[in-house]
Amino acid sequence: MSSKTLQGIRSIEELDLDEKNVFIRVDFNVPMENGVITDDNRIRAALPTIRFALDKGARILLASHLGRPKGKVDPQYSMEPVGEYLSRMLDLDVVLIDELRGDAPKALFKGWKDGQVLLLENLRFDPDEEKNGRDLALAIAEYTDVYINDAFGASHRAHSSIVALPQEVRNRGAGFLMKQEIEFLDKVIYDYEAPFVTILGGAKVSDKIGVIENLIDKVDVFLVGGAMAYTFQAAQKLPTGSSLVEQDKVKFAGELIERVKARDKKLMLPLDHVIVPSFDRLSEAKITEGVAIPEGWMGVDIGPKTQAVFREEIKRAKTIFWNGPMGVFEKPALAKGTFAVAAAMAENQSAVTVVGGGDSAAAAKASGFADKMKHISTGGGASLEYLQGDKLPGVEALRR
Ligand code: AMP
Repeated sequence: MSSKTLQGIRSIEELDLDEKNVFIRVDFNVPMENGVITDDNRIRAALPTIRFALDKGARILLASHLGRPKGKVDPQYSMEPVGEYLSRMLDLDVVLIDELRGDAPKALFKGWKDGQVLLLENLRFDPDEEKNGRDLALAIAEYTDVYINDAFGASHRAHSSIVALPQEVRNRGAGFLMKQEIEFLDKVIYDYEAPFVTILGGAKVSDKIGVIENLIDKVDVFLVGGAMAYTFQAAQKLPTGSSLVEQDKVKFAGELIERVKARDKKLMLPLDHVIVPSFDRLSEAKITEGVAIPEGWMGVDIGPKTQAVFREEIKRAKTIFWNGPMGVFEKPALAKGTFAVAAAMAENQSAVTVVGGGDSAAAAKASGFADKMKHISTGGGASLEYLQGDKLPGVEALRR
């Protein structure tokens, strides 16, 4: 495999799957409303691996967690809707099984036919899963010849299906989604090409400190927007009105500005803002003349001047990593800055463009430019941990 991290880890293509029981840990932790899946990205992202295993003649057992049922069976977190959805997408039978201990599954596995996909009920119904318990791992291992991890979004957790289980299965490896995630994130942290632009936004500086620290010597330009920007603005002693400011991170923000300057790199903050008196008075939204935010007003998006300047930087870049929206993009009136960044990234087709998971993935999708990005991570927490230089337990567990 091309990435440095993936050396020593087998790919699904290198394993013999023919007539084997293949357990695939997927990340089907999808958002749902009243039992209806509202975003199927994670399911779609696992399809290449599932289809490949089917073509190779595997008997597939899929498993994922969904929500936080905290080690107890809770019907609202059942995988049933996911199984039905997957069944329609694959156009074949997906059979939901409650659990693997006891005699009942034995009979089911005896009659397991090629091309029949089994889906295990929510892994987190079992208290062992989050404790990285060996008992659950052994129960699954009994039916597993080959273990595949395709759940990048869950691989920052040392849970039973992620860590304890692969330790019990000799033939283990990474699925296509896992490989793609690592390959793209490795391009950002190891094989980046200058100019390297990192766009950071979202609610908090504190969540991103690790990533900033890990990237500070690699990035040429940091573009900072979202609520995060106001903590930096406060560090420069500029008025922030009633915008979100993380008081305990103001000092860090000030030091960061100096550190970036000392390295002859750029950290660019908004030059203008969209401001509102409060979230229930959005119709009064206006754009500031300069950087100062008046008393009684809060910043909720980057303004047009900022969009234009950020766009220029994004246009020139060869490597672009984006994490965190530029404003409260969930409200259409406050999404312009975020969508402008997405549009600028989409325009630069010669760059490696990588979008972090979670809110940033949702923002990219809402912008309509998602399919123009080279990679959108399916893992929020996992991609941040990886980019801050941490080894992911689920990736390490796949090594030979
Ligand atoms: P994060 O998970 O840190 O990437 O933060 C994402 C959240 O930050 C989104 O829900 C945005 O609505 C929110 N956000 C972005 N900009 C602002 C802002 N200026 N004021 C309040 N919330 C914001």
